[in-house]
Amino acid sequence: MRKEKPQKISISQRSDNGQERFKNLYGHIQPEEQIRLLASVVEQSTDGMAIADMQGKIIFVNKTWVSMHGYDNAEELVGQNLSIFHNKKQLKEEVEPFNLEVKRKGSHSGEVEHVRKDGTIFSTQMTSSLLRNENDIPIAMTGVATDITKRKQVEESLRESEVRYRTLYNLLPYGGEVINTKGEIINCSPSTARMLGYEVSELIGQHITKLVDPAFLSLFRLKFPQLISGKPITVEIRMLRKDGTKLDILRAAQPILDKNGKVEAILALNVDISKRKKAESELKNKNKELQASIKRIRSINIELEKAREKAEESDRLKSAFLANMSHEIRTPMNGILGFANLLKDPKLTGEEHEMHIRIIEQSGHRMLNIINDLIDISKIESGQMEVSLTESKVNEQIEYIYSFFKHEAENKRLKISFNNDLPAEKSIINTDREKMYAILTNLVKNAIKYTHEGAIKFGYKKKGDFLEFYVSDSGIGIARDKQQLIFDRFVRADLSLSSQYEGAGLGLSITKAYVEMLGGKIWVKSEEHKGSKFYFTIPYAPPVCD
Ligand code: ADP
Repeated sequence: MRKEKPQKISISQRSDNGQERFKNLYGHIQPEEQIRLLASVVEQSTDGMAIADMQGKIIFVNKTWVSMHGYDNAEELVGQNLSIFHNKKQLKEEVEPFNLEVKRKGSHSGEVEHVRKDGTIFSTQMTSSLLRNENDIPIAMTGVATDITKRKQVEESLRESEVRYRTLYNLLPYGGEVINTKGEIINCSPSTARMLGYEVSELIGQHITKLVDPAFLSLFRLKFPQLISGKPITVEIRMLRKDGTKLDILRAAQPILDKNGKVEAILALNVDISKRKKAESELKNKNKELQASIKRIRSINIELEKAREKAEESDRLKSAFLANMSHEIRTPMNGILGFANLLKDPKLTGEEHEMHIRIIEQSGHRMLNIINDLIDISKIESGQMEVSLTESKVNEQIEYIYSFFKHEAENKRLKISFNNDLPAEKSIINTDREKMYAILTNLVKNAIKYTHEGAIKFGYKKKGDFLEFYVSDSGIGIARDKQQLIFDRFVRADLSLSSQYEGAGLGLSITKAYVEMLGGKIWVKSEEHKGSKFYFTIPYAPPVCD
């Protein structure tokens, strides 16, 4: 044990050329002066200094050594053994091996723990040397000790915080990396490396932009200078994994400042938000689908609303039609039955007799017209109405209609005239003569029916490949909102039963169907109380000459 076998302390002469330097510098002054000089240097030193004999008995300690070890003065220590500055453990584990090195090499340096007078422990950086006599025999040992407790504490706390932060860094569920101001990765957490499919070592030294999806590089480049200027940022970007797959990442980056406040590096934490992004985009798609469905439902609703309105309208029309039809049928029927009854009276004069028969005839015609119209419309509806094309002399038809209605019009004091655009020989076309006749008849008949004064004009003009017919009157006209509807079945501009005009509202729908069957169109221009002008076209198809 060290306590039982104290070691000698000495100053090595072999390796130490300090003596030579001292002699060169101070050899010229008196030995007493030299000693005083040396003593004052030793006393003022901030390092603790001690000299002991080879058994460890203390010969000299300076002020710093005394205070460093918590003693009051050197006298307390001189004559004691150096082992009082250590506990047993220190002696065994540190001092003994240290002294062996000193003896082996002549001098040695290292960290050695010391014990103060009050038992507290502190760390020193020790340098010991052997002092030898002229015969090279070690006679004493010197020791210079620097108290490194503070440095050790700082080192320890640094080590602790490093361990703590590294542990934290490694434990973070979302990893991170530290990059320098050039953008090169200088450290990286295992979880970030794992997330990107790399080993940590593969990432260190790589430029961060290599890990960013090219589509996001411009955003990345935009934000990086902000970081360098010291502002923390949070961005959502897409990063590239080693296998090329992409990963949506939320990056929170924080500049790390040096002690002068300058940005020396950047710590970025990465959170994998791929799942969230996927959910978001699915939600977006679902939203789009939903919007589209809502749009579809809305348009279906509009259609339904239209259909409902149409159904209501046709319901209304149907009721009006039924009321109208029964009126239209009952009136001539009453005429026929009533006047047939009157005919039975034997006292009737010949004139009265003739008048009654004429009324019965008129009523019969009216009935026949209604029945014919109903038959025509049902044939058209069921697709049984056929078109039979024959050579038709248009001018002749116009003239015939003129002479047919002339009398009726003049009876109402209406002027009636016609105009044919083509010479007779050029007015021959291939069409369904009967239908063309029915169309013109209907329109002229209506013109007379709905006009009380003025004139009826009709005729045609050749326009391109069509003949454009017209029938104009100076009658009651048609309200703007009815001008389209009157071509529908059973629609009459005036639906009231008290209407002074008889009719079932079928004529124009039959007319329109015929015009379309012949390959033309029909329309009307009209102004209420001023008159109407109906137009229709028929293809100008002259017969092919053999
Ligand atoms: P109606 O048997 O009622 O005459 P139409 O189908 O021929 O049936 O005509 C439908 C409706 O169009 C008529 O009830 C009338 O209100 C209107 N109309 C047709 N022609 C004329 C016209 N020349 N002038 C004014 N109104 C007309």
